[in-house]
Amino acid sequence: MLSVKKTQNPNFLDVELTGSIDQSFNLIEHLGENFKKIKVRLQGVARINSFGCREWLAYFHKLRCDGVKIEFYSIPPAIVSQINFISEFILSDEICSVLAPYYCDGCSTSFSKEYSVRELQFLGDKIIELRCQNCPEHARFDELYDEYFTFLK
Ligand SMILES: [Zn+2]
Repeated sequence: MLSVKKTQNPNFLDVELTGSIDQSFNLIEHLGENFKKIKVRLQGVARINSFGCREWLAYFHKLRCDGVKIEFYSIPPAIVSQINFISEFILSDEICSVLAPYYCDGCSTSFSKEYSVRELQFLGDKIIELRCQNCPEHARFDELYDEYFTFLK
């Protein structure tokens, strides 16, 4: 089940998606298509299934054909996998920021940190270690760096 929070701004539609993108998800019904720019915040998306992927591809393809500017923020691991797998899932100039998952052995905690594309390009694989948010230890990047960031190449 997906929940959608929409805020209409003067120049763009701001949308926050939370939950699973699956058969309950009808993008045109939820988001509409009558705008020139959309900012999509994906932090709360836990997973997407094949039905959700088809909906997603059709909907955003149509927006691009209509000349809508699309920006994606806080892209979580479930969506990063799709970007790496399906070339038109999100176009590279639509990626604004990405969530990187970390795990700390010191306090057995998972957390994620948001990076802009600029930061990722600048920092490169230096991001694989990060000071833990909860304890003095260093947390490690909890995916394979080269695989996770395939879309940056
Ligand atoms: Zn820790």
